[in-house]
Amino acid sequence: MTTQTPSKTARSEALFARARAVTPGGVNSPVRAFKSVGGTPRFIREAHGAYLTDADGERFVDYIGSWGPMILGHNHPAVREAVADALQFGTSFGAPGEREVELAELVTRLTGAGKVRFTSSGTEATMSALRVARGFTDRKLIVKFRGNYHGHADGLLVEAGSGLMTNLDGPLGESAPSSAGVPPEYAALTLVSEYNDPAALDTLMAERGPEVAAVIFEPVVGNAGVLIPTPEFLAALHRVQNGGALLIADEVMTGFRLSLSGATGLLGLRPDLSCWGKIIGGGLPVGAYGGRSDVMDFVSPQGPVYQAGTLSGNPLAMAAGLATLRTLETDPGVYGRLETYTSRLADGLKSLAAETGVPISVNRIGSMLTPFFQDVPHGSVRNYAQAARSDTQAFGAWFRELLSRGIYWAPSQFESIFVSAAHTDAELNATLEAARAAFADLNSP
Ligand code: PMP
Repeated sequence: MTTQTPSKTARSEALFARARAVTPGGVNSPVRAFKSVGGTPRFIREAHGAYLTDADGERFVDYIGSWGPMILGHNHPAVREAVADALQFGTSFGAPGEREVELAELVTRLTGAGKVRFTSSGTEATMSALRVARGFTDRKLIVKFRGNYHGHADGLLVEAGSGLMTNLDGPLGESAPSSAGVPPEYAALTLVSEYNDPAALDTLMAERGPEVAAVIFEPVVGNAGVLIPTPEFLAALHRVQNGGALLIADEVMTGFRLSLSGATGLLGLRPDLSCWGKIIGGGLPVGAYGGRSDVMDFVSPQGPVYQAGTLSGNPLAMAAGLATLRTLETDPGVYGRLETYTSRLADGLKSLAAETGVPISVNRIGSMLTPFFQDVPHGSVRNYAQAARSDTQAFGAWFRELLSRGIYWAPSQFESIFVSAAHTDAELNATLEAARAAFADLNSP
């Protein structure tokens, strides 16, 4: 076991105790509570570049990046200045403003969407996209994939990943809700298929296709750990469009991260609608959905599908999103640098694990990566069922050891980490050094 002095966590512990008295579980989003990995959740005081500093003054190399948005690194000057500039002119208007037009023009140009509508979160984006799909097709059912997570709207909390990624072993087809409080009648409108299983999707669509309004999917999964789609699965997804169901790419995590045109651009996908979040708001609360203009014209006030938001198109949030996307667009080398860093991280983890005899299987695409703590002798982890075989105890011990050595990894086996443009060789070396010790520690008696 480690001989290091335990991290200083007195202030985080005190804050966690106060938080638990007034907030369920002490956090405003479940995975932050470290429930699946154990240990004290660190209360963060500030974040700059690749680093988080907690309430006790400890600094960590950050691999969460606020769960995706901070692709440029924390507190990036371009974003900070854009928000500070917008702040001088008021924080919310409840009436349209120029920045919303500019961001919509930029997003449609980068992604190829015809029209886009801004929301304040990814959940609102996916929820609204489904309503539009139902309104447009006049059909009721949706199809999602086991272990994919699309936010916490009722109809999407069915066999959902992310913080719900446990015990998803019900039958495929019509499935039970993943959360209390979701009426089974809602869940019954959501059919579930297996990710990366083209035959299962074909069969489901052959049986129920004419009732299906939309198939929603993560084009690269981050919420069961990273799962990369096979070309055969992507082809099966496109086949659903032949029967009139809309294909909805949930790019909340992958949008502007895997490329400027998201996973859609990288993988050559042709969805009818896409959903965005995270990077599109540069660390402020923004989501968006968009795509085919004939479908988006069903949205109110143009069309009959109602969707609204008091803070939608918020000027500070639009400014942060614009600054982030413009910085990404004007730095063509950024995706190459993210690729290099993250592939070296993947290679380093694989060889360190092999040296210390810890079985891991690393899934990595661009700046998204998950080390699954299991041996996969042939191929890689492709779906929820395989991901779920990981040794979560070993992952938890490894996570805690990394944290004690100043590396803030994602606090769950079933999440992606996110590398930012602020991560350099210094952080990579520090991470691999800590990982070597953490792997070694796992195997010590
Ligand atoms: N879709 C995906 C793919 C996500 O990863 C998330 C959040 N992690 C959401 C939707 C929901 O976004 P939000 O948390 O902003 O509601």
